[in-house]
Amino acid sequence: MELNQLTIREVHEKLQSGEISSLDLVNACIERIKKTDKKLHCFLATDFDNAIKQAKEVDKKIKKGGKLKILEGIPCGIKDLILTKGITTTASSKMLENYVPLFDATVIKRLKDNGAIILGKHNCDAWGHGGSTENSDYGPSHNPWDLERVPGGSSGGSAASTASDQVIYSLGTDTGGSIRCPASHCGCVGFKPTYGRVPRFGTIAMGSSLDTIGPIAKCVDDAAIILNIIAGLDPKDSTTLPKEVPDYTKMKDKGVKGLTIGLPKEAFGKGLQPEVKSLMQIAIRDLEKLGAKFKEVSLKYLDYGLACYYIIMPSEVSSNLGRYDGIRYGHQSKEADNLFEIYTKSRAEGFGAEAKRRIMIGTYVLSAGYYDAYYKKAMQVRTLIKEDFEKVLSEVDLILMPTSPRPAFKIGENVNDPLTMYLEDIYTVTINMAGVPAASIPCGFVNNLPVGMQLIAKQFGEEKIFQAAYAYEAINGWNRIKPKI
Ligand code: GLN
Repeated sequence: MELNQLTIREVHEKLQSGEISSLDLVNACIERIKKTDKKLHCFLATDFDNAIKQAKEVDKKIKKGGKLKILEGIPCGIKDLILTKGITTTASSKMLENYVPLFDATVIKRLKDNGAIILGKHNCDAWGHGGSTENSDYGPSHNPWDLERVPGGSSGGSAASTASDQVIYSLGTDTGGSIRCPASHCGCVGFKPTYGRVPRFGTIAMGSSLDTIGPIAKCVDDAAIILNIIAGLDPKDSTTLPKEVPDYTKMKDKGVKGLTIGLPKEAFGKGLQPEVKSLMQIAIRDLEKLGAKFKEVSLKYLDYGLACYYIIMPSEVSSNLGRYDGIRYGHQSKEADNLFEIYTKSRAEGFGAEAKRRIMIGTYVLSAGYYDAYYKKAMQVRTLIKEDFEKVLSEVDLILMPTSPRPAFKIGENVNDPLTMYLEDIYTVTINMAGVPAASIPCGFVNNLPVGMQLIAKQFGEEKIFQAAYAYEAINGWNRIKPKI
């Protein structure tokens, strides 16, 4: 096995024992990136020199017999929506083309405090708007399982990069599925925490009441290690809660005996590709064999999730993107002759088509006369959705359903059809509206394309997801199968 194919725990142990060096590992990742990224286009910016410098320091520490922190000397990649001090961060948008942050997002600070080495920034749909990376202003990333296909999105660069072993792990963001969907399409473990579990400070806002940050990893254990580090109260994000962060890696050998898992009937009906459904059924049987009990449940508002999401999310988008006006933030047009033109031309030039579509929808549904009919109504339905999840998750420990209705689609297949594109998120967006945690765990392949299943828990119930995911992964190991690129 190549060094860059190892997991965090494997690397950590080998580094500590002196079996491998951080420099060799970092170089293995850099070589892999140089070899594959022309095809995959996962990276928008790299910071190799710094990474090498850091690796050498770690190796010196090991030689002196120093004890390594869990992420020390281990290279990762970061979605371009998360601010990294000194490394260009564009949100994959031309609007922020040359923006170099002066500070780190809280999650980055926490990774760095634990010794993480950042290799660079991962491509995504601009501002997180999308499910395929085709909305990146810098061109799409490609799926390592089939280069003609999308890696999912919006954190597609992160998932493709992790799946193809360019990095050991990565961080993504999830507002409506952007960690889980690409994790599913690339064969990674993607973990979207409870809203408020992981601080958003320093992450470019998409929909502030929906945004979450989490790991995209090669195995459940790595996701647990990362979440342990990035979760927890942050005085700079008032939506984080002063709740203790349990050690998620402790769930490793708990098994699933005694867990009851709900299967929402609404999620297994029309629209779900039969081959994906069969994989879900096999996964259910596996978990049953391990001792979990299953029960049919009903999430009666699941069908309304998408419609509400595409009102609430654009409303928040239109407000969050208001600051990029060429004066306060972002690209400034060279064609402008007066203040009004600075605003209009800078925004016209800086934003791509999808960002504009969402700004217009958001502005429309928030405008006087339409607010009550759209935004207020959607917020009322959101409450029903939240209550729906609360009720079901008081009867069962977890919910299991697909992450995506089908495996990765071809690049270009949906670009002229935003509605079909939005439908790809049918199983994920509702979870963000309820604010509950969910993970996508690899559960097999359809025509050599990976498929993920989704495990959902009640708010701050991350441990149970890990409990089931650890047990399932231990008897399957779908995550260990590598794409040939
Ligand atoms: N694909 C969804 C959208 O386009 C989700 C995006 C996200 O989670 N950032 O909005």
